Amino acid sequence: MASIWNPHFNALSGEYLFVASAKEAKAYRESNPKLPLVSLGIGDVTRPLPQVIVDAIQKAALEMGAPATFRGYPPDGGYPFLREAIARYYRSLGIRLSPDEIFISDGAKSDLGGLLELFGDVPLLLPDPTYPVLRDAALLAGREVWYLPLTAEDGWVPTPEGLPMRPYIIYLCSPNNPTGVAYTKSQLAAWVRYARESGSIILYDAAYGAFASGAVPASIYQMRGSERCAIEIGSFSKMAGFTGMRCGWSILPKALDSKDCSPRALWARRQGSRFNGVGYVISRAAEAALSPQGRMGSAQAIHYYGENLAALRACLDAKGIPYFGGKDAPYLWVKTPHGMSSQEAFRYLLWEHGILVTPGSGFGKAGEGYLRLSAFASHEDTAEAVKRLESLSYPMST
Ligand code: PLP
Repeated sequence: MASIWNPHFNALSGEYLFVASAKEAKAYRESNPKLPLVSLGIGDVTRPLPQVIVDAIQKAALEMGAPATFRGYPPDGGYPFLREAIARYYRSLGIRLSPDEIFISDGAKSDLGGLLELFGDVPLLLPDPTYPVLRDAALLAGREVWYLPLTAEDGWVPTPEGLPMRPYIIYLCSPNNPTGVAYTKSQLAAWVRYARESGSIILYDAAYGAFASGAVPASIYQMRGSERCAIEIGSFSKMAGFTGMRCGWSILPKALDSKDCSPRALWARRQGSRFNGVGYVISRAAEAALSPQGRMGSAQAIHYYGENLAALRACLDAKGIPYFGGKDAPYLWVKTPHGMSSQEAFRYLLWEHGILVTPGSGFGKAGEGYLRLSAFASHEDTAEAVKRLESLSYPMST
């Protein structure tokens, strides 16, 4: 008899990547190790919120406690003050958006999966390695997934060269998790051209846009014509230390509308049935994150993580270990030593040296033979990890 439960769960790997590595890290801690664990594993922020955000939270909390200023369900699409603040943020990048093209969310993760519901029976084109959330959402919905395997030779940047001219949902993420590389304007322009010509839609994950140095795009809408073929997903998580606060946004430009369909209207309809919005206190906190003081606080945190990147890069350079990324994104994509598999190198670093990293193979088959190092740790933990990496007795050069 057919099972009553969704059979597509069988297509997923046994455990979500970071749940599996957190379990192994717990086992290490409980083994009473000589070396305390230092984590360059999960990409979670560690810097506290800037004071301007804390003040906004306190003020909004007091408003919620007073009869005249108490608020219930948030308005559809999000509080206008936050949609306007995000439009102003985009204006600072040279992009004109109307607040009603911006939809507030509880973070990029939920929207990445949710946005797939807008599409008909179109395959998802997914670079491999990838942040696994969209892959899992597509597989769970029984959607066809076409992988674009990336390699060191192509610098871990996907290109549309040689793809058939047919519509896809194309997932692009830049600056990229897990490879830490950011796509150049000309690389993105090729994708925009392909999407326009093939009738595809790009789902552009800009969760790390704030880490882009200026030489590379922070948003797909910096590319001419992209408003006709791209939906962008943004997040306060890494930009403003909001992983524990939960707030993000998605942009569905009016330019995507055709005479028979408005994706913006579809998303509004979908959210109306499936999402009850982001609360007032968090929305005020996110607004504060985009104020001049808030943006200065973000820049300081990004600078702090940048110092970790510099320390890790210097260590890898000195040891002659090949790596990618780590300039416009808080991740380094590091070759494993001597043909070790990602899992072997992950276990070796954890159990022999107490350093938690993420195995590249967890981000897709093409990630095999690589490790992802995160720069979100404290300076102290990063310095300790660097010290241990420097003293590795195992020959680390390839
Ligand atoms: N997209 C990418 C590429 C990410 O790395 C992450 C989180 O690590 C997310 C989206 C999810 O972000 P959020 O915290 O906004 O759900």
